[in-house]
Amino acid sequence: MIPGPFTYHRPGSVADAVRLLADFGDAARPLAGGHSLVPMMKLRLATPDHLVDLHAIGELKGIERQGDRIVIRAMTTQQELLASQEIASFLPILHEAALQVADPQVRYRGTVGGNVANGDPGNDMPALMMTLGAGYELQGPDGARTVAARDFYQGAYFTALEPGEILTSVSVPVPPAGHGYAYEKLKRKVGDYATAAAAVVLTMSGGKVASCTIGLTNLSETPLLAEDAAQAVVGTSLDDAALKKAADAARAIMEPAGDGRGPVEYRTYVGGIMVARALKRAAARAA
Ligand code: FAD
Repeated sequence: MIPGPFTYHRPGSVADAVRLLADFGDAARPLAGGHSLVPMMKLRLATPDHLVDLHAIGELKGIERQGDRIVIRAMTTQQELLASQEIASFLPILHEAALQVADPQVRYRGTVGGNVANGDPGNDMPALMMTLGAGYELQGPDGARTVAARDFYQGAYFTALEPGEILTSVSVPVPPAGHGYAYEKLKRKVGDYATAAAAVVLTMSGGKVASCTIGLTNLSETPLLAEDAAQAVVGTSLDDAALKKAADAARAIMEPAGDGRGPVEYRTYVGGIMVARALKRAAARAA
């Protein structure tokens, strides 16, 4: 289908973008890569009267190290994430996961900011950002504020973003050197959203798990942090009993939709398998 009519705006600064969004209120939407928003507009599931394109805003581009954090600005594309040496060296789980987002065509346009701000439970970056303990920098008519990724997602397509606010960057703490990581994503075919996916970041000491965080994608209407599952493996050598305990604890919080990717029981079952696989692969990588 063809999108409804809209007025196109191309501000050159965050301040101008925020002003436009505040002026037009609910009738306006920020446009980033357009690879979630434009399909929604074509289906008339989104009918904004005003599109505020963020592409001309230089301050929204780039990845840089700031002390013990990596700052990824909102208009960084998934392809730029993949090409970044900083990401490959310090946040390798993001490199691994970005390779599994959609396909190269989408990755060249789709942005990190759009992926995390969208609130689609199928997006891969939100659970990763929750696992890594990232913070989202937001700018709105009343100024700037930071919201933890873990507090950002409130329901499907419902986030902590207030009217007129845009997400300007994602700030990710660098995990300890030698950490293990893995993103396991089950999908029907290359380029598909997850049937079920699990992110793991852990540290090992003396052959036992010293710390662990687990995130889940597309297994509820928001990304999930599987805290009991992570706790179940701390202090263990990840033997079969610990892996089963973690998978079962993760399954207990999953509420996937039953849809074309499978019925609820199937997606919950394979969700647990993704958790166990990610734990094993992360441990094998940990120094
Ligand atoms: P847009 O589509 O421009 O925007 C998405 C939403 O976020 C809109 O509501 C917009 O107003 C809002 N928004 C955008 N930027 C900001 C900002 N800075 N501040 C506040 N609000 C903002 N994604 C995955 O994670 N995994 C997949 O496997 C996957 N597969 C895909 C397959 C196909 C065929 C397609 C078309 C898309 C797929 N996607 C997938 C989605 C893709 O990654 C999108 O690019 C991403 O979800 C949104 O990023 P965007 O930059 O395109 O944002």
